[in-house]
Amino acid sequence: MAFLDAHPGLGYPAAAGLGLLVGSFLNVVILRLPRRLEWQWRRDAREILEEPELYDPPPPGIVVEGSHCPHCKKPLRWYENIPVLSWVVQGGKCRGCKAPISIQYPLVELITGLLFLACVWRFGFGWKGFGAMLLTGFLVALSGIDFRTKLLPDQLTLPLLWLGLVAAVENLYVGHKSALLGAMAGYLSLWSVYWVFKQLTGKEGMGHGDFKLLAALGAWVGLSGVLPTILLSSLAGAVVGSIWLAVKGRDKATPIPFGPYLAFAGWITFFWGTDLVAAYMRFAGLA
Ligand SMILES: [Zn+2]
Repeated sequence: MAFLDAHPGLGYPAAAGLGLLVGSFLNVVILRLPRRLEWQWRRDAREILEEPELYDPPPPGIVVEGSHCPHCKKPLRWYENIPVLSWVVQGGKCRGCKAPISIQYPLVELITGLLFLACVWRFGFGWKGFGAMLLTGFLVALSGIDFRTKLLPDQLTLPLLWLGLVAAVENLYVGHKSALLGAMAGYLSLWSVYWVFKQLTGKEGMGHGDFKLLAALGAWVGLSGVLPTILLSSLAGAVVGSIWLAVKGRDKATPIPFGPYLAFAGWITFFWGTDLVAAYMRFAGLA
């Protein structure tokens, strides 16, 4: 690790390359984890309702089964599976059946590559950089899944919470007290908004996954980072939401789930939270 710190000319491309590969794996998680969950929920529901067993083959697992074209089911060769490059060379189409391949694939790979680069640039090549990559990977997967299916699976939010608390035991980014209180404040703040909104309107404006995601982020950014995360996510949501409304028109615009905004805001706060707060204080003439 010290070697990579001393030779950033090798370290940075290595981190970006790792990000592309991890992004390729995250694509599989984004696609297959929700299907797997829905399959389990259907099975559990049938059992609770005491409905007869029926043949319902499980969808592909996340790690074991190789990638294939979702249209013609042709297994992908190694050279069809190179992050970003394969998609560009093949013009965004399957080599076998010419069906278009979603831009989600190269996009997730590219974003993960760039974000991993930011991780080592900000935190170096030690445990801090590694932890930042871990957080980044979880947030990319959660954003993708929420965007596609409006789900934020416990299978991702809860481990992310534990990992943040474990990092805090070692004082990696924030102290353990700050992380614990941050997790609680994160959960309770959104839960109270949800509860008040529900009492006033009788509607559920937010999913429980959002509380859990903000709890997890609170463990990573600490108590002082929770408020900036909430403010930044609301701001991003308002900006993107109004652009979306303007482009699509009021009838066609479907609400975008809140998870990606939380993930974005939490990531920014984790990376530059203290700088942001200081800049704002200077700007507001408070310091
Ligand atoms: Zn195909």
